Amino acid sequence: MALKDFRPMMERCSTCTHCKFIPFDKIKSIRFAENCPSIGYYNFNTYSARGRFQLAQSILDGRTDLNETVTETIHSCTSCGACDVTCKVCRYNLEPLEHNIELKAYAVENGKVLEGQKPVIENLKKENTMIPKAKKANRIDWAKDLNLKDLFKEKAEVCFFAGCKYSYDEKLQKIAQNTVKLLQSAGVDLGYLGAADNCCAGRAKQMGFFEEFDNSANNNIKAFQKSGVKTIVTPCSDCYHAFKRQYAKLGLEVEVLHIVEYVDKLIQEGKIKFTKSVPMTVTYHDPCHLGRLGEDYIPWEGKEKKILNQIHTWEPRRPRYNGAYGIYDAPRNILEAIPGLKLVEMERIREYSWCCGAGGGCNVSNPEFSQWTAGERVTEANATGADAMVTACPWCKDNFLDAVDENGNKIEVLDIIELVRQAM
Ligand code: SF4
Ligand code: SF4
Repeated sequence: MALKDFRPMMERCSTCTHCKFIPFDKIKSIRFAENCPSIGYYNFNTYSARGRFQLAQSILDGRTDLNETVTETIHSCTSCGACDVTCKVCRYNLEPLEHNIELKAYAVENGKVLEGQKPVIENLKKENTMIPKAKKANRIDWAKDLNLKDLFKEKAEVCFFAGCKYSYDEKLQKIAQNTVKLLQSAGVDLGYLGAADNCCAGRAKQMGFFEEFDNSANNNIKAFQKSGVKTIVTPCSDCYHAFKRQYAKLGLEVEVLHIVEYVDKLIQEGKIKFTKSVPMTVTYHDPCHLGRLGEDYIPWEGKEKKILNQIHTWEPRRPRYNGAYGIYDAPRNILEAIPGLKLVEMERIREYSWCCGAGGGCNVSNPEFSQWTAGERVTEANATGADAMVTACPWCKDNFLDAVDENGNKIEVLDIIELVRQAM
């Protein structure tokens, strides 16, 4: 769909403000009632999903130029999808997230990008990774000595896909290595793409760089098909969403599982057993792209229809992604199975989770906004009294590591696999 095709949504938005808050019946305190980082930080309507619909309409009508302020506004959206699920509390046929991303693509097509986005996209094209300055030649260094099967040389039951962040970030590589060891010790027949392993480019899509995403995705789909992969397991929530939702749209037909789903299954089958107590209280952060954006792709083709030549809708009805079927139970099952560990919940959880701030490439294109967003979540985590916050995405973990709460306090941040390893 082009931006003009979203006009029915722009015109049907009822200015109800549900896209700015978690559902009113879920609010536990005013302090943690908001759901959109963008309007929370900028406090001006244009930064909300509603405002973005109005902005796009104004651009299409020729009333607003893509000037510097408008360009910054368009890209200051973490693509977290919180507006998308809360809009559907009262509306059925609007897709604010898809629209926000299409608006970014419109800006990109017109050459309106942010300085911080350029090195990310340039490195995707040059080195097949969205980590600036990282080199393709070093992509699989993290995996040496792990005895992972190269799927282009021998068959394996499961393809492990680490993703750029775990592959290159020295703070996080150990987690990817330990994840592989964990699966191998549970008897999983594990391989990887070896030299054909490249960026999933999901983040390029979130940033509105559609052409770059399509090129990477189509190449990766060919590599998956050539290797005969049947099941992909990834510890990265961005990669998970890219494969499960975006690649599925482009024709990828393989089972895609996040590591939390796979580990939960191995625990239930008795292939992972905990022998040590981890006496801690933790709170769990639902990553946006694993939780509310982790639902299965539903194919849809249709066209706009007007009722009584006036009310816009679509025929057939568009699928309704409202976040309810994202991946929420598997990580909680794992934490609850760890002896001695106590899980306490934050106020905004599951499909109403607050974003970590790294999405949409905002961690590089708008770091102040991104860190404020992470700080809000650290404040919420500290309010639970937990010793640590646990997550299942390297982008969330990295963004929380430097963030401080409103009192200047940090919190220990753990990847869920770090806790699993401690308990074994
Ligand atoms: S996707 Fe997230 S940051 Fe962007 S407008 Fe929606 S709620 Fe706000
Ligand atoms: S929740 Fe949906 S319908 Fe309501 S103001 Fe926001 S975008 Fe418009």
